[in-house]
Amino acid sequence: MFHKILIANRGEIAVRIIGTCKRMGIKTVAVYSEADFRSPYVELADESAFIGAAPARESFLDQEKIVEMALKHGCGAVHPGYGFLSENPDFARMVHNAGLVFIGPPVSAITALGDKMASKELAIRAGIPVVPGHSTPMCDLESVVGIAERVGFPLLLKPAAGGGGRGMRVVASEEELPAALEACREETRKSFGDDRIFMERYITKPRHVEIQILADDYGNVIHLGERECSIQRRYQKVIEETPSVAVSHELRSKMGDVACVLAKAARYVNAGTVEFIVDQDQNFYFLEMNTRLQVEHPVTELVTDLDLVEHQIKIAAGERLALRQEDVCFKGWAIEARICAEDPYRGFLPTTGMITRYAEPRGKHIRVDSGIAAGSLITIYYDSLLAKVVVWGKHREEAVANLVRALNGYHIEGLTTNVDFCNAIVNHPAFIRGDLSTDFIDEHFVDGESKEPPAVEHMHCMVIAACLVFHTRRALVKRSLKPMSPLVGGTPAPQRIHDYVVRVNATVFKAQLDGDQGGRRWIVTVDDKPYEVLTPEFEYYRRRLNLKINGQSHMFRLQYQDHHIKAFFCGILGIFEVYTPREWELNRFMLADKKVVPENVLKCPMPGLITAICVDKDAYVRRGQELVRMESMKMESGVASPCDGQVEKILVQPGQAVETDEVLMTFKL
Ligand code: ADP
Ligand code: ADP
Ligand code: MG
Repeated sequence: MFHKILIANRGEIAVRIIGTCKRMGIKTVAVYSEADFRSPYVELADESAFIGAAPARESFLDQEKIVEMALKHGCGAVHPGYGFLSENPDFARMVHNAGLVFIGPPVSAITALGDKMASKELAIRAGIPVVPGHSTPMCDLESVVGIAERVGFPLLLKPAAGGGGRGMRVVASEEELPAALEACREETRKSFGDDRIFMERYITKPRHVEIQILADDYGNVIHLGERECSIQRRYQKVIEETPSVAVSHELRSKMGDVACVLAKAARYVNAGTVEFIVDQDQNFYFLEMNTRLQVEHPVTELVTDLDLVEHQIKIAAGERLALRQEDVCFKGWAIEARICAEDPYRGFLPTTGMITRYAEPRGKHIRVDSGIAAGSLITIYYDSLLAKVVVWGKHREEAVANLVRALNGYHIEGLTTNVDFCNAIVNHPAFIRGDLSTDFIDEHFVDGESKEPPAVEHMHCMVIAACLVFHTRRALVKRSLKPMSPLVGGTPAPQRIHDYVVRVNATVFKAQLDGDQGGRRWIVTVDDKPYEVLTPEFEYYRRRLNLKINGQSHMFRLQYQDHHIKAFFCGILGIFEVYTPREWELNRFMLADKKVVPENVLKCPMPGLITAICVDKDAYVRRGQELVRMESMKMESGVASPCDGQVEKILVQPGQAVETDEVLMTFKL
């Protein structure tokens, strides 16, 4: 076994590989660029080596430098992770020529499968179904049109050297062909330094289903079942799961066998993934083979109880596969959400910034593979993948519930991420039904927003959370002000029933809290529907709140500000305004147009305690006249009238605790 391994990658996958190495007693060397010098993976590795400037070209793609570092640090092998140099046959060869082991397939297999046109030919020769199309280089437009007619529209133009969904173009009709061809060729040349393009029939509403395989040096090949990765944006995966609702036992063994046949035909060794597209009639077609560890490998690990990185390392060290096909068993369901630095509401554009506050979800059956921490700087130089939330459940329903729970509790502050977008996806009725296709996001979302209205039950849960936080905070503030008042004689019995009006966007809810005299058990009624709620000991500085509602544990992410509570739950973002019925009545008119500052009310300028009311009801007052005196932060000050008028109502009394913007008096003008 290797004594020390260099990991030619960064971020979550470097952390992931280090984890297995530690368990196996193998030392690790991390490589880092100027952008990474304080990343978690660098600290976790036993040793680290600086390899250059932030741009990947000058560091993570610098083959000589990486091999040099592996030798300098006395490594026996190099693990490439995914992306970067993982599917580069020149790099694998260079590692090999330096007397080191490349933890991945042989150079010949990377070469044979790395090119999409070549791998398709290989698949055809091995008798594997491929998407109907054309895979010899296309020259002039005239011949392209002829080929396109034979393939049939709509069709897909694809770069032979492609990856990461780049360069692909759907062409609906012949008229669109010349422009699409030009655009595809241009992007291909820029991204891959190669302009070979091929075309395939575009399968409508397909599913992406792939098979994980393991192969050793002795001709043993097994498969570890499928992963469905149909939830994509820009041909890139967002949510993956295993098993797939679309794959029956028979289909699994058929696809598994086909994947093994392909691996054998390519003399493949190590872990690899054979990607297929499945049409609506359950026909499956080979797409490509990825000759590396896949981003979404953890879902397979959770249902098979295997460590794929451990198998990669053992195979690379020349060990025989310890498993036969019949030893592989699948247990339960696993789903993964890719957490990316991107803005789903702005076309999934990447975002950058510093992570200022960070809390990962934790819990039974929740696994988070991440490469970030508070203080991490997310730069433009690398992939937007920050972390992966992976969950397990006995069945799909339980796995979905666990993922929702995990995403509800994932707090990342400092930059926009897709956490809540992922959450909205897995809460969507079509996702819950398992009705998936690669068009899912386009079909069910517009500008990152679900076309489906939020579930009433979810809204009620959010109203409960917002009300309880608002109420408890307010009660606490009032209690804290009490000792300051010489005017309050004795403690009045706490009120048991509290009514609130909650507004979120255009919707208004009525909520009633029935508190158990300071206990943690409440009955909360939202629009006449009662819920039994158990609150934790409140911790107000926390951004996460866990409530048990009707026996179910729910995590909310909350930000509190005056009357507003910004809440995130099940992919819904809501800004909740909480009012007492009295405030609501008084504020109703102002709320319609917030910019109009009404003159007929006296609002409290700060939180504090009323010490005196200086006027009587019906008194005539002048603008600027002191009407109320209050005490706050050991200072007493007056509150002046905003208008000339007659006092209509006095809503507070001496000794009462008040908050900013609370209405103290109203006037007849
Ligand atoms: P999967 O997610 O199934 O493992 P992807 O095609 O999404 O496969 O690629 C995995 C990672 O590698 C992604 O972060 C992607 O951006 C990156 N990647 C894939 N192909 C390339 C490539 N040819 N050049 C650069 N990065 C790539
Ligand atoms: P990449 O190397 O970028 O991963 P793939 O060939 O694996 O390229 O395709 C990526 C995605 O593009 C697939 O998961 C699928 O959503 C879509 N796709 C690819 N080929 C087809 C096709 N013939 N018809 C419909 N969708 C396709
Ligand atoms: Mg692919």
